[in-house]
Order: sequence, then C-alpha cells, then structure tokens
Amino acid sequence: MSAPLIQGYEVVIGFETHAQLATASKIFSRASTAFGAEPNTQASAVDLALPGTLPVMNKKAVECAIRLGLALGSHIAPESIFARKNYFYPDLPKGYQISQFEIPVVQGGEVSFLLGQEKKTVRLVRAHLEEDAGKSLHEDFIGMSGIDLNRAGTALLEIVTEPDMRSTEEAVAYAKELHKLVTWIGICDGNMQEGSFRCDANVSVRKPGQPLGTRREIKNLNSFRYMQQAIDYEIRWQIEQIEDGHAIQQA
Ligand code: ADP
Ligand code: MG
Repeated sequence: MSAPLIQGYEVVIGFETHAQLATASKIFSRASTAFGAEPNTQASAVDLALPGTLPVMNKKAVECAIRLGLALGSHIAPESIFARKNYFYPDLPKGYQISQFEIPVVQGGEVSFLLGQEKKTVRLVRAHLEEDAGKSLHEDFIGMSGIDLNRAGTALLEIVTEPDMRSTEEAVAYAKELHKLVTWIGICDGNMQEGSFRCDANVSVRKPGQPLGTRREIKNLNSFRYMQQAIDYEIRWQIEQIEDGHAIQQA
C-alpha cells in the first residue's frame, strides 16, 4: 500500500526513544534510582564526576539492552564502546554525558505492528546505553532555577529508528508497540508521566520521489496524545512553509 499523501506531500518520520531502564541503582554508581526523593539526595560523587571517582558499569543495564536486542532481532555487539559526549548544560554540570557512539550494544533489528489491517515494519538503526542528566526546576523559585541531580546517571536506552514511518498514525502506533514491548520484557516501567519513556519525533515532508526533506525534531514527547498533536501540527506547518516558498531549517 502506498503512503498517504497530505496536500500532495509524503511525510517521513524517524524516532529516537529514551527508555529509562528498570535498574535499582544508576548506570555507573550505586546511588538509588527511586523516583520522587528529596532533591539532590540521590546524587553520588560518581554521578557528579567529582575528581577521583570512576564509573563502574551496572551489569543489569547491559542485560536490559541485550534483552531488547534479542526481542527485536538485532545484532548484539560482543564488545561495545562508551564515549564522552561533551556539552555543558545546567542539568549536566560535569560537562559531558557518558553515551555510546562508535559501537552501540544493540545494532539493527526491527519493530513490527498492525496499523489497521496493514502490517508495518520499522527498522532500527541502533539502541545504545547512556546516562540521564539531572533536572532543571523552573517552577519552585522566583527569578532563578533549581537543579535536582537525583536523575543524573540514571540508565537510559536510546532506541533509534530509520526514517521509515509515513504518517502520524504509523508513528504513534510504533511508539505504542515499542512501549508495550519494553514493559512486557520488563526492562522499563513505561511510566510516561514520570519520564520513563519519552520520544523525539524527527519529521520531514517531501513530494513523492524526491530526496528526503530537511527534518525538524520534536523532543521529549511523553504522551501518545501530545505526540499525535505535535506531529500533525509539525506536518501542517512544514507544508505551509514550503507552499509559501520558504525552505525548512533543521531545528
Ligand atoms: P541526532 O541525534 O542528531 O538527532 P540521530 O542519528 O541519533 O541524530 O537521529 C536521527 C533521527 O532522525 C533518526 O531517527 C532518523 O531516522 C531520523 N531522520 C533522519 N533523516 C530524516 C528525515 N529527512 N526526515 C525524518 N526523519 C529523519
Ligand atoms: Mg535527534
């Protein structure tokens, strides 16, 4: 079946999903990952990267990643590499995030699901392990922000798809299927309100047969309904821009 067109445009969507792994302690330290503790009571010296501390891999996190890879027919790398992704942000005061770049633990694989009567398959590029950052609190203070580093160092699996989806409905169905899967195999509690499962939607449009258009990325979608609304809005906005003669800027 061919992709549905909107005003003559084909929609192209790829997803990056952060699934918080159901480990009792953090990915590189023994600090607790329990949700809802008093700010900064669960941030250890390792999570803060204080001088003299060294990260020690949480075996359970690797097992969770491997379980997803096995469920999706991926290649499991016998050896994978961690890297420092350097950026400063108030919720990442140590200045870098430990992530995987060159050799992620899970490579390839696919997610299949039904969209109405039609079977859809979305290919994965990779799923890599990384640590979460802290959290900025903008509502509790006047004229300044608070930083809670309890979440810093929480184990995440970032699951990246190829740009295989061709409609909002397909993208939401993919996200629901992935959500079902990670909770069923027990690697993520799936609590979207608490941010345990959050999606970044990369969206572009093109005329059929044309090369891929420029993508714009909507980050941290934590409800299926908002996901639907945000992607629909983005598609309409991009088509309007192009019809008005403007080029899409990556953003
Ligand atoms: P980054 O971290 O810079 O966003 P990644 O490679 O991790 O880069 O993720 C890129 C995501 O964008 C993937 O899910 C990919 O499928 C998707 N993508 C790439 N090109 C397009 C495009 N033209 N339209 C829509 N999605 C795209
Ligand atoms: Mg991205």
